[in-house]
Amino acid sequence: MSNEWEAGRLDSDLDDVAFDTLAVRAGQRRGPEAEHGEALYLTSSYVFRTAADAAACFAGDAPGNVYSRYMNPTVRTFEQRIAALEGAEQAVATASGMAAILATVMSLCSAGDHIVVSRSVFGATVTLFEKYFKRFGVEVDYVPLADLQGWRAACRANTRLFFVESPSNPLAELVDIRGLADVAHEQGALLAVDNCFCTPALQKPLELGADIIIHSATKYIDGQGRALGGVVAGRREHMQEIVGFLRTAGPTMSPFNAWVFLKGLETLRLRMQAHCTSAQALAEWLEQQPQVEHVYYAGLSSHPQHALARAQQSAFGAVVSFEVRGGREEAWRFIDATRLLSITANLGDAKSTITHPATTTHGRLTPDARAAAGIRDNLIRVAVGLEDVADIRADLQRGLDAV
Ligand SMILES: *Cc1c(COP(=O)(O)O)cnc(C)c1O
Repeated sequence: MSNEWEAGRLDSDLDDVAFDTLAVRAGQRRGPEAEHGEALYLTSSYVFRTAADAAACFAGDAPGNVYSRYMNPTVRTFEQRIAALEGAEQAVATASGMAAILATVMSLCSAGDHIVVSRSVFGATVTLFEKYFKRFGVEVDYVPLADLQGWRAACRANTRLFFVESPSNPLAELVDIRGLADVAHEQGALLAVDNCFCTPALQKPLELGADIIIHSATKYIDGQGRALGGVVAGRREHMQEIVGFLRTAGPTMSPFNAWVFLKGLETLRLRMQAHCTSAQALAEWLEQQPQVEHVYYAGLSSHPQHALARAQQSAFGAVVSFEVRGGREEAWRFIDATRLLSITANLGDAKSTITHPATTTHGRLTPDARAAAGIRDNLIRVAVGLEDVADIRADLQRGLDAV
């Protein structure tokens, strides 16, 4: 796709620069006004000089913007920046993380295809597969995330897609992405990775062999809890199918949200580094506390996949889950005793959040399904934000004192 903005000189200048430079600069084109920041093209449609120019643009014979469901310069800057950061040929932005998953499956799968999904994915993702895709004749099976033999055994002749989140939420389990990509490709399937918890600042699944990256930009890409969005990145052959679906069906990203996310990306690696440093310190401290039975964080040497986490991620993320002595009552007392942390199921924000998974994010599961997923009543999840770590620790201490 070319147009007058893409003819700018910045692309070639950015061939040899590091992640932080891409996060600030990639995809930016200086328009006719030579603006310093990212221009916000808050427009639904575009005008043409002549009827013939319009006809050529609509026919795809000449570069240019047609309509903001099709393309928007601000959204395109965001897409190109994500593609640069993930090392993807192309990226396409969506209205939300869920719209990114919807567009991927609608574009790449048909009735009669089979998808294998890791058991511990985001709740709405399971609903999308179970309630909606199944209704259109897509078959779905779930396997434990880390069990490569289980993935192989779940495959059938019609298996088209593997779908995972690594690390998982809330228990911080990982899969060997390179190993799983090999299993997928042996079976003629594609591997899609929801990279929301790591972002490209910590993990680049395409470099490990995955085919498609999915993000909820709502989380760390924004980083300040302002806007909903998503993105899919991968090889051009797949992206073109997904772009076609989005242009037709319409769950595309608003230019305003793209502008917010571009601002978020400028500080992505610095924020992730600060999130991870605090999360590591708190996980190590929690592990020492007598009221805490177990801490789930891949940065701890006690984590069974610590070595894998070191190999495929550059840091361990900011979600720390732990079990307190007791059950639901003790967990709720802990949560209610905090004064700083936000009691909410959201994450990826500058503000630290605290969640009781068994009665919120995983509350609709049957007790058996919850037990199978390893979500016990005494489990608490903290998504560590950017407040001073001593203040977060003091707040968690209030919780411990109440258990
Ligand atoms: C939040 C989230 C989603 C859904 O994203 P929305 O932007 O809320 O639609 C998908 N996957 C993961 C891992 C998430 O955390």
